[in-house]
Amino acid sequence: MSLLDGDLIIVRTIGANLSSKQDAYCLVETNLDANIKKKSFVISKSSNPEWNNEFVIPVSGMVLKNIPNVTLLFTVMDENKITKDEFIGNVSLQIDTNQFHLNEEVKRTLSLNTPKKNEIEIAIRIVRISGAESQSAIHKCPTHNISINSLCKTCKKLMCSACAVSKLHNTHKIHLIEDVEGIEREEIFEFKSDIDKWINEEKISVNQLENELGNTEISTTETKQKIQSQFLKIKELLEKKESEVLYSLDKQSQFRMDYLKELLDWKLSCDQMFNDFEKLKPYDFLDLKLSKFDNLKYSFTKTKSTYQPKKNFVKDLEQTESKVGDKIENITRVIENNF
Ligand SMILES: [Zn+2]
Ligand SMILES: [Zn+2]
Repeated sequence: MSLLDGDLIIVRTIGANLSSKQDAYCLVETNLDANIKKKSFVISKSSNPEWNNEFVIPVSGMVLKNIPNVTLLFTVMDENKITKDEFIGNVSLQIDTNQFHLNEEVKRTLSLNTPKKNEIEIAIRIVRISGAESQSAIHKCPTHNISINSLCKTCKKLMCSACAVSKLHNTHKIHLIEDVEGIEREEIFEFKSDIDKWINEEKISVNQLENELGNTEISTTETKQKIQSQFLKIKELLEKKESEVLYSLDKQSQFRMDYLKELLDWKLSCDQMFNDFEKLKPYDFLDLKLSKFDNLKYSFTKTKSTYQPKKNFVKDLEQTESKVGDKIENITRVIENNF
C-alpha cells in the first residue's frame, strides 16, 4: 500500500528494556511535520517502563509529494526534576509501507544507538478513513493540514480524520462526508418538498408576491388619502365651529363696547352741561335750564334703568369660555375613546 492524503499513522509507544533504572519517557517525532513532538508518560525508577501511549500523526498529501519516505524518530529521555532531562538514546525508523496493511498493527523492537543494550518496543498502524482522497484539496484542516472528510453530527462540524479520532470528539457521532452526503441531501430534499407543498396549497408564487408588493404600496396610499379626507372633515367642522364661537364672542364684545361708548358720551355731555350751568350768567343759565333740564332728567332715568355693570360682562365671558371648554372636553373624550 502507499500513503494517501488524510491517512493517519497511529504510533503506540509500548515500552522499553533499559540497561539501568531510569525515569524514562519517549518522544516521537516525524519528518512529516516538524511541529509534531509527542511525549509519552514518565515511568519512574524502572528499567522496563511500560508507557502504552498512542499518538496520531496525520498524513498530508502536500507534504507527501516532497518526502520520499516517512521517518519516525524515537528518543528516550531520563526525567530529572531539578536539572535538565538526560538523553538516553534514540533510533529512527523509516516506514516501509509495503509491510503494512490498513488498520493492522505492526510491532517493532528497536535498539537505541547506545553502547549498552537499550531497546524500545513500538507499534504502528495506518488508518484510512475512506474518502480521504476524494475530497477537494482546498478544504484542509488548519490544525492537521490534511483533507477534511468527516462530519461530527454532535458538534455539527466538518473536520479531518485526525480531529475525528481526537479526544474532543471520540464519543461523538462521526460520519464520513461521502457516507452522509446522500442522507443530508435527502433531508434537504424532503424539507424542500414540504415548502413546495405549502406554497402550492397557498398558491404563492414569485410573480404573485411581486404584484402584491406593488399593490400593497398603492392601496395603502389610497386608503391613507381616504382616511386623511375623513379627518379633514372633522378638522373643517372644528374650524367652522371655532370661527362661529369667536364670531359670537366678537359680537358680544362689540355690543359691550357700543354700550360703553354711549355711557361715556352721556357722562361727558352731563359734565359739559353742569360746567355750562356754573359759568353762565342768570339769563343764559335759566334759558339753558328751561330748554335742557327735562331732557337731562329723562336721560338720567333711562341710563339708570338700563345700566349694565362691568361684572355682568365678565361673568358672561367666563360662561361662554366654560361652555366651550365643556364641549371641547366631551369631543376630546369621544375621539380618545374611538381611536
Ligand atoms: Zn484536523
Ligand atoms: Zn464532536
